[in-house]
Amino acid sequence: MEFSKYFTFEEATRTNHTDLLKANQDEAKTKLDAGIKFAREVLDPIRENLGYPMMTNSFYRGPTLNAKVGGSTRSQHMAFQAWDGNFKGFESDDMKMFILGAIWSLIKTGKVKVGQLLIERGCIHISGPRDLNRDGEVAYYNVATKRKEGIISGGLK
Ligand SMILES: [Zn+2]
Repeated sequence: MEFSKYFTFEEATRTNHTDLLKANQDEAKTKLDAGIKFAREVLDPIRENLGYPMMTNSFYRGPTLNAKVGGSTRSQHMAFQAWDGNFKGFESDDMKMFILGAIWSLIKTGKVKVGQLLIERGCIHISGPRDLNRDGEVAYYNVATKRKEGIISGGLK
């Protein structure tokens, strides 16, 4: 399956809850367009510009998996628009902050549009720009949005 330059559908849908892998992949297919768009327009440019391998910890989490791990019902992971992971060789707390700064520079120079950029549970969390549509689903935002484009929040957790 053609997914993105640097990411595969398999890594995007992987889970340690192997009994839920099939359900997670089936649910991911219903959000595939959003996932591909997010990977190609947000993750690939970050990977390309920073030049360091991105190790995916958690990417798509469908309703079944999200319920199992107690995720927020409004999680962008459920919309296939959020990625958690680390950058190879930059796994210490200081180096994670370095990576956040580097991504922040990409945002400020207009090289990438990000919704949220933060550290949660030891991983860097990157989500796509978003708006909530009438159905309560997370919709992808056009680059022309006037909404806040990026957030660096919290310290290291
Ligand atoms: Zn996350």
